[in-house]
Amino acid sequence: MNMNFFMPTKVIYGKGAVLKNREILRSLGEHFLVITGKSSMKNGSLDDVLEALEGKYVRIYDTTPENPPIELIPEICSEFTDTRDIDVVIGLGGGSPMDTAKAVAVLLDNPQLNVRDLYDATKYTSAKKIVCIPTTAGTGSEVTQFSVLTVDGRKMGFSNNKCTFPTIAFVDYSYTITMGRELTISTALDALSHAMEGYISLNATPLTDVLAMESMKNIKEFLPRLLDDPESEYYREKIMFASMLAGMVIAQTSTTVAHALGYNLTTDKGIKHGLATAIFLPFELRNANTEKAETVKALFDGSLYRFYEDIGIKLNIDISDDDIEKWVKIVSTASHIRSTPGNYDIDTLTEAFKEVRDMFCSE
Ligand code: ZN
Repeated sequence: MNMNFFMPTKVIYGKGAVLKNREILRSLGEHFLVITGKSSMKNGSLDDVLEALEGKYVRIYDTTPENPPIELIPEICSEFTDTRDIDVVIGLGGGSPMDTAKAVAVLLDNPQLNVRDLYDATKYTSAKKIVCIPTTAGTGSEVTQFSVLTVDGRKMGFSNNKCTFPTIAFVDYSYTITMGRELTISTALDALSHAMEGYISLNATPLTDVLAMESMKNIKEFLPRLLDDPESEYYREKIMFASMLAGMVIAQTSTTVAHALGYNLTTDKGIKHGLATAIFLPFELRNANTEKAETVKALFDGSLYRFYEDIGIKLNIDISDDDIEKWVKIVSTASHIRSTPGNYDIDTLTEAFKEVRDMFCSE
């Protein structure tokens, strides 16, 4: 057996992780920049961070939009560098604040870079220290090197193994208890996509398979129960754990074709990332047509569609043939295809979008 596994992030996991381990956070520096959204005020996470950092110099950027555009990164950098040098950038929230924090950390440490140079990992090797604190359960960004930004209307990920992994991830499921049903589903489905795509990926290893399988089993078993009992700490923790495991998987394997397909529904139709991605998994499993794809189908009692029906997935959008034609062109050049088993020519990709339209958009 030959394989590599690289995940240099220190994970501090458990209820109350930030406050119980405040000295670890404080030891990272004197000047902190917190990148977050409005929900961190409601779920208690921002209060915890501010309490943990009492006496330190702390600036807050709290208007991170969903699917952050690349232009936002230099704006944030210029807004928060005038007074003092930042030592640590904290991404607090879902994928958008965490991914924004990674990009800001690179650009603050490399002011000579043009923001688009983020996508050329040969141009930089360092970043400010990155701390990630997820308040949703799905992105896994707290344990990955990836940051996905919107560039010219398309979602594009960058990464640099030398500097974009977070230094520390504080993972506390209790921040997710206030999430509504829709967000709970869409984020959990992002984790499911990461685990499943990573499991069938051509880059999978025996070690990522263990993590991916555990993640998928948790989501299959506990997501429906969580939706019936959304305040259950037990179920919330199960999904948070699954999300983190799935993040560790894609840090090794990257995502596959379902992510490339789903990005189009997010940028052009406003469908949440996890939902937009997961609806392509049945297609991907069938088209991959491998033994591992069969294993996954068996885990979901033969059909993922039944699982989706049970949790009540439907899209209230129209997809035209012109949409499909445009999206197929985009996906056909995506790097994700290289790591996905199966053939993904124009006809097959067209079929993928039509299948999603038939299964989720009809009355
Ligand atoms: Zn994702």
